[in-house]
Amino acid sequence: MTTTTSTSVVETVPKQLFIGGSWQDAADGGHFAVDDPASGERLCEVADASPADGRRALDAAEAAQETWAATAPRARSEILRRAYEIILERREELALLMTLEMGKPLAEARGEVGYAAEFFRWFSEEAVRIEGGFTRTPDGANRVLVMRQPVGPCLLITPWNFPLAMGTRKIGPAIAAGCTMVLKPAPQTPLSSLALAGILTEAGLPEGVLNVVTTTDAAGVIEPLLRGGGVRKLSFTGSTQVGRLLLAQCADTVVRTSMELGGNAPFIVFEDADLDRAVEGAMVAKMRNMGEACTAANRFFVHREVADAFAARLAERMTALTVGPGTQPGSQVGPLIDAAGRAKADGLVQDAVTRGAKVLTGGEVPDGPGHFYPPTVVTEVRPGSELMRAEIFGPVAAILTFDTEDEVVRAANDTEWGLVGYLFTRDIDRALRVGEGLETGMVGINTGLVSNPAAPFGGVKQSGLGREGGRVGIDEFLEYKYLAIPVVPVADGRG
Ligand code: NAP
Repeated sequence: MTTTTSTSVVETVPKQLFIGGSWQDAADGGHFAVDDPASGERLCEVADASPADGRRALDAAEAAQETWAATAPRARSEILRRAYEIILERREELALLMTLEMGKPLAEARGEVGYAAEFFRWFSEEAVRIEGGFTRTPDGANRVLVMRQPVGPCLLITPWNFPLAMGTRKIGPAIAAGCTMVLKPAPQTPLSSLALAGILTEAGLPEGVLNVVTTTDAAGVIEPLLRGGGVRKLSFTGSTQVGRLLLAQCADTVVRTSMELGGNAPFIVFEDADLDRAVEGAMVAKMRNMGEACTAANRFFVHREVADAFAARLAERMTALTVGPGTQPGSQVGPLIDAAGRAKADGLVQDAVTRGAKVLTGGEVPDGPGHFYPPTVVTEVRPGSELMRAEIFGPVAAILTFDTEDEVVRAANDTEWGLVGYLFTRDIDRALRVGEGLETGMVGINTGLVSNPAAPFGGVKQSGLGREGGRVGIDEFLEYKYLAIPVVPVADGRG
């Protein structure tokens, strides 16, 4: 990629399947369209894999596994490090590509490119620090040698909302651990993953280690692979609904799983909070990625004493945002991913209004092309409203009030999800108490952003299984092996 025009960045990305180190058409020659959500216009077509293509991709991953596992950790590390550097060199092109296929404003896309690259840097450092252990059993008779080995060929399935980072968060640790893989990106945003395959090849990744299949037949391609016995690990990011289905498919062949699923994050503002920080945090937790994030603040619980002030300030900030195509200079809020995503967000708002909620700003579908929805603040939401139960996945802040700490912790935990929670208070005891009480895998204290490659990302309850990133991220791709070594004592009884 040498220039950064929309046409040139799309043109330079391969549109084929990446199998066994070569770019290939789908066996049946199928293609599907990739559209720009800001205009509805077609960007390009990419190969549409059939189940047979999926099988070939897994065959390639299985064939490469033994050699890849035997490759020196330093060599694996350096490939990741080179890929990290190439991604940063191409930040502008990759950001534009992501904005075109997914819709987020360019400034946010640039941020995601940096975040995505950091997973490669982090796991390049982890690749050379895979530790085992050597101990003596309590009775003194045996030695226990513990080693870590790659789990084997992995299936990685990613969603459309963070097209680059959701890929690198899985590919990075898989490469570091010595696993081969088949990546299936979301059909709305395949281009970032295809560009990434090109970058990893340039960085020296051997053929067959990463295979990418783009398809509109996710169920048809994936199920036979999971049931066929060759996949040793599924790492999935997406909705809880699809996660459940895939867990059931993994049960038959006992495939190990990591599941990064949906969220319903509470955002709690106590009466002693610094309101400037709380509003700033709310803007990040709600508006990052137009609200299309699993970590998005979904339910705002604000103490009755500060609720009106908080809502008014949040509405003011939300109203001032510039909505427009992500490629437009100054745009802060891009389109939602598709018509269904917009209809869902709007349907939740209208349902809440019918039940008595008040709209402070937004709440109306605009005319014109693209799937835009205005930043919206809704107050006086009735607890039974679907707006408080569903994952909104749009730029809609729904505000409820509360009176006591116990009450708000109970309300925040009253959901089947448990990915992240946010709380704002100046009281350190309360911050720790409530932080411990929230049934979530992550808690932001006086911040609206928790994602960090150095931290273990993931949820409890129906938000998922396992963690990505941090020191534990690589564990998801490693098995323990223990070698038992009895040591025969010398005849005089020593040892
Ligand atoms: P989705 O509908 O569950 O899709 C996610 C991925 O799974 C896509 O690649 C999709 O392909 C594929 N898929 C769907 N059905 C499948 C099947 N039967 N077999 C195999 N693969 C299948 O979710 P989404 O709407 O793309 O993404 C939004 C969801 O992801 C939200 O719930 C969000 O919270 C969650 N998310 C979670 C995290 C996290 O880290 N916890 C991060 C980001 C997003 P098709 O589109 O072709 O069906």
